[in-house]
Amino acid sequence: MKKKTLSSVLAAALIISSVLSLSGCGNDNTTPVCADMLNTADREISVSVAKIDNLPSDFLMGADVSSYLAIDKSGGKYYDYDGKELDMDGFFTLLKTSGLDIVRFRVWNDPYDEKGRGYGGGNCDTDAAVTMGTSATKAGLQIMIDFHYSDFWADPNKQMTPKAWQAMSDSEKESALESYTRESLLKLKDAGVNVTIVSIGNETDNGMSGGTGWAEKCALYSAGSRAVREVFPDALVAIHYSNPEHDYVKYAQYLTDYKVDYDIFGTSYYPYWHGTLENLTSVMKEIADITGKRVMVLETSWAYTLEDGDGNGNTVSHEENSDDPYYSFSVQGQADEISSVTQAIADVGDAALGCLYWEPAWIPVKYYNPTGRDAAKILESNKKAWEKYGSGWASSYASAYDPEDAGVYYGGSAVDNQALFDFGGHALDSLNTFRYMREGHEAEELTLSQIILPAPISFEYGEDIHDYLPMTVRGELDNKQRITFNVEWDEEELASFTGVGEYTAHCTIIDEIPGGDGTPRKVMLKVNILPENLLVNGDMESGDATGWTISDPMAGITTDDPYRGSYSLHFWSEGQVSFTASQNITADKDGELVFSMKAQGGDMGDGHVVKAVVTNETTGVSAEGSVTLAGWQKWQETGSISDAGIAALSVSAGDKVTFEIVVSGSAGGWGTIDDVFLSYQ
Ligand code: CA
Repeated sequence: MKKKTLSSVLAAALIISSVLSLSGCGNDNTTPVCADMLNTADREISVSVAKIDNLPSDFLMGADVSSYLAIDKSGGKYYDYDGKELDMDGFFTLLKTSGLDIVRFRVWNDPYDEKGRGYGGGNCDTDAAVTMGTSATKAGLQIMIDFHYSDFWADPNKQMTPKAWQAMSDSEKESALESYTRESLLKLKDAGVNVTIVSIGNETDNGMSGGTGWAEKCALYSAGSRAVREVFPDALVAIHYSNPEHDYVKYAQYLTDYKVDYDIFGTSYYPYWHGTLENLTSVMKEIADITGKRVMVLETSWAYTLEDGDGNGNTVSHEENSDDPYYSFSVQGQADEISSVTQAIADVGDAALGCLYWEPAWIPVKYYNPTGRDAAKILESNKKAWEKYGSGWASSYASAYDPEDAGVYYGGSAVDNQALFDFGGHALDSLNTFRYMREGHEAEELTLSQIILPAPISFEYGEDIHDYLPMTVRGELDNKQRITFNVEWDEEELASFTGVGEYTAHCTIIDEIPGGDGTPRKVMLKVNILPENLLVNGDMESGDATGWTISDPMAGITTDDPYRGSYSLHFWSEGQVSFTASQNITADKDGELVFSMKAQGGDMGDGHVVKAVVTNETTGVSAEGSVTLAGWQKWQETGSISDAGIAALSVSAGDKVTFEIVVSGSAGGWGTIDDVFLSYQ
């Protein structure tokens, strides 16, 4: 999970006004009255969940609740479905009775500075896992330990070496990791914690504990695994990666080649980052088939609201990760997401071992409403708690260890709106989804309230529209549940889309519509037929540099921030940004060439250059168009060739034409380029 949010998101979150006026709210530590008022409706919602028929008998429902202890120490309160306040044992018992089998705790080696001040994110060390694990064991839950082998967050963006291991050689680090794992697990064992799964590393796609190569990474996995086998011989060893759109088959091959002794191949799956459910199922099935190992979703989550509850902007918000949602942002939407992801992993077959939700209990310390009474005081008291008890994602004390991320963006929870408790700590019915999935739960008679319009499609002239048309649309029922309908397209209408341009296509829902009267329901779709591109891979969708000659590795085809599709030409450089990406083509007929190019990015400095230059090498005439980058996802388009004062570039059949993207800017500049078109006018 990506833990930070951009400072701009925080600023935006602070100006969003809440829908309710909360005058008369209590503002002391003990009465979450404001939250009560805001979320009464959410709390009363009973969710509908279809029974999952093909769950393997040993399938584990679970959640990572690592932040619980820090929230508890900060004075945050939790309540059951009837509003009864829960102590720690009561909290874990509620999880058990809501259908969870297992809880996961992350463990950092030493999340404290030299003065003993916690880095935040729950200050999750072995002692915290012992405290929570003891209570969870008493409640009848299994425990999964998630070693990050770092002193703070480890994910695809960073895998920092623990302070104590920084001067070590590779082999010294392996022994240190093995001893550390052994000692940590022995503490848990001595306390009687029911550890059944141990994850060796967290989202280790790009490294672990400072090691980046597969040989080193696998040696570290093996060192950790040896310690697990020794201390908890009955526990399972998990390896965890971040995104099923990454090359898991290759990862699995490395694990085999380096003879890593493990049992579970785990993945994170956040719907707004990690592709489709179908891909999740097929990739994890392939991994299970190849390796013979069990597979799990180790992290997933969804938001029940786009509001923020603690004064720290959220990962999923009005501004971020909320475009075109497959599920609604509601309590029912959470139930839909959890059950859909669980169904997707269950569809792998008997190899599927479980699905874990990420941080359902990371609620605000105190509910913060920017327009409510005493807002400034509440925010101040939250900030104090984040610093003192580590209940935010990072404290300022983490800055020496993690200067670029925590050092700049430290603060509260970026996922309080993805908790399965409301901002005041009251359990939402979405927490019961784990139980409902085993037996099914129907809230009420439901009717369709709206159809979610499908996202517009774009493709090049000459391509088959059927390769792009969705065969299903989503609809939302009156309880905000989103379901899928099969559709049929009007073929006669499609046949009339004969040239470049924008069209509207229509389809008819062919499935039964809940609450419908039998009248056919039509749905429209915007269709954009783009010019035939003379460039190869101008949309970057081959997923590699096919067609392009790129002058420097600071630029390459990645999945970062595409304008359209899944890939873009991404660039970033610690030093000065300077590269070109070019193609040579031969004109196949006489005519006038025009082009366009989309770009977004920032930190490039004044006078930076992002331009496309088209040159007719035969005549020596060239034309160019440029853009000025304006920030993340603020897409700019070149004004075709108008910058050069030429409306189009004349070519004759057989002329050699060079197309070149030229980018330069300051150190630290970044951005993406996508949808580059060169076509006859
Ligand atoms: Ca927040």
